[in-house]
Amino acid sequence: MILLDGKKTSADIKAEIALEVAELKKQDKKTPHLAAVIVGNDGASLTYVNAKVKACERVGFESSLIRLSEETTEEELLNEIAILNIDKDIDGFIVQLPLPDHIDEQKILMAIDPDKDVDGFHPMNVGKLALNLPTFISATPFGILELLERYNIETSGKNVVVIGRSHIVGSPMSILLAQKRKIGNATVTLTHSRTQNLSEITKKADIIIAALGIPEFLKGEMVKDNVVIVDVGITRVADSSKKNGFRLVGDVAFNEVSEKASHITPVPGGVGPMTIAMLLKNTLLACERRNS
Ligand code: NAD
Repeated sequence: MILLDGKKTSADIKAEIALEVAELKKQDKKTPHLAAVIVGNDGASLTYVNAKVKACERVGFESSLIRLSEETTEEELLNEIAILNIDKDIDGFIVQLPLPDHIDEQKILMAIDPDKDVDGFHPMNVGKLALNLPTFISATPFGILELLERYNIETSGKNVVVIGRSHIVGSPMSILLAQKRKIGNATVTLTHSRTQNLSEITKKADIIIAALGIPEFLKGEMVKDNVVIVDVGITRVADSSKKNGFRLVGDVAFNEVSEKASHITPVPGGVGPMTIAMLLKNTLLACERRNS
């Protein structure tokens, strides 16, 4: 069994990005600048957004963190987005989700200039992704493509089963893997909470992408030998033996499934670290597009 090591792969990608930034600096060109907007004080969201800002600094990007209070109105947030849209120094920006209930998430995502939408959530970019046109592929599916590519996993002609149909992971993943592209050309089955006899479907899969958010959902008896497993799930499960009181658990029963798998991502250290690396990659891409 080979571990698909997202921690190492993401470190490699970040080192490559840092080299490209150093080259831009050498040529006196503009270096990438990512801005992140966060509304409110949600602990997990603050952790994620701070990790993104820190990752920017490490590769030599400029970064700006815009912290807004929980009481920020939808109009105020839209104003902030309008400013970022026209700020020539900012190449890309993200609005950390989830937003407080009084703000319409879809309205906010629609307001972001698609050319600066490095999360790839704007309907224009989702549409381009569906048509296999150049765009910003949202970071988690992008990271999974990159991980499969760097480990030389053959996807062409394979049976891929995606579990979970969210807009940020399962749906785009199923579209991408079915497309005519290097990591693609697969026969994809997109499964979800209404899928019947899921085990019968997963048992036929050569590759399984589990993105449903139920800890250790995929058991050993649900997969065939030599399957490739990508575990997207991250759930905090209470654990008094840990300093912070919890541990992170994936959607795959790792011990059982890894005995049958040819390749498998660990949790943590699999898909998670890849997500931040690909956000950086999208920001570099945004900067290059503006430089050219
Ligand atoms: P979500 O929570 O929006 O949706 C869950 C999906 O799972 C739904 O489409 C639902 O139909 C499906 N589902 C639920 N129960 C099911 C069942 N019994 N059988 C089959 N399908 C079922 O999904 P999400 O936002 O993609 O998150 C999924 C998991 O991935 C979560 O643990 C989340 O924390 C994690 N995640 C990780 C990263 C990362 O960077 N590693 C990024 C995004 C999400």
